[in-house]
Amino acid sequence: MDVELEVQKCSRCERDSLVHQPYSGLHLCGVHLAESVRKRISKSLRKQLILPKNSINSLGRPFKVLIAISGGKDSAILLHFLHDILGSRRDVELIAGVVDEGIEGYRSPSMDCAQELCSSLGIPLERISYPDLSFPEMDDVVESLPKISESNLEARGMMPCSFCGVFRRQGLNSLANRVGADIMALGHNLDDVAQSVLMNLQKGEVDRTVRLAPHTTIPIDGLAPRIVPLRWIPEQEIHAVAIHLNLPIHHGDCPHAGGAMRQRSRDIIATIEKDIPGSRHGLVQSMDRIRELAANSENGTTVQSCERCGEPTSRPICQSCTMKEWFE
Ligand code: SF4
Ligand SMILES: [Zn+2]
Ligand SMILES: [Zn+2]
Repeated sequence: MDVELEVQKCSRCERDSLVHQPYSGLHLCGVHLAESVRKRISKSLRKQLILPKNSINSLGRPFKVLIAISGGKDSAILLHFLHDILGSRRDVELIAGVVDEGIEGYRSPSMDCAQELCSSLGIPLERISYPDLSFPEMDDVVESLPKISESNLEARGMMPCSFCGVFRRQGLNSLANRVGADIMALGHNLDDVAQSVLMNLQKGEVDRTVRLAPHTTIPIDGLAPRIVPLRWIPEQEIHAVAIHLNLPIHHGDCPHAGGAMRQRSRDIIATIEKDIPGSRHGLVQSMDRIRELAANSENGTTVQSCERCGEPTSRPICQSCTMKEWFE
């Protein structure tokens, strides 16, 4: 059977198209996609990161942005464009941070990619591992999971990612403290955010929805402010731009990712986006609206301090301290 593949042209130039955006109707080549991604990141940054003309503080030091990277495509794009957009400002300092989860065969090659990218951009890279934070490595978590679920009711049915998410968050907070970061940038893309919105709403966790990053316009007490400049960029476009720009990225999947609730949510989001292009944008816009309403209402979310570690939490003992106890 002869299949004739017609290559679409870019809507802006004569080059072949690299991606189709069903939600906008555009076809874009690598150059124009990269330009469009940069524009959207700049726009998000202007909303989420309001910097004065001179951000040198009273101690004479620049405004520090910790950029959480992993060696994957999203954070590579984040680092590349933040460097592109903010890199020439003398009053802003960019520092990259990576958390080593202790996953054999996965973390080491992605760490190499992260290091390569940082070196090429001249950005310092800070590392922290789970044992540095008194947590077990993820490979050990997975091994002891059956035992832990046996003796702790709350841990029953928990997936490796539930632990990893809590530990990584602590790792990033700790890196932010170490470097004295004024703000932290995370590489969550449009698909990630839409998945999180869906999962939180599915579980009735509106408070969590309200607490999702970005934290700059609706600051939440006690949490290091986080910005998410890629929140309007679909994963597929990030991937295409990372390849187009030839960024060093690790393509492997984490061996512990299987079966996660996120994976199911990913499939659902992909399906509804295919049926009704623009659904992901709609979910994130709904979240923003809920946040606005919550910010205007008097009984906003209450954050207290953990009795053991002092980290902000919605219960007396925070989840990471609870988990630490399970492994002791
Ligand atoms: S997939 Fe899960 S276990 Fe693996 S690195 Fe991500 S959060 Fe951690
Ligand atoms: Zn083009
Ligand atoms: Zn705690």
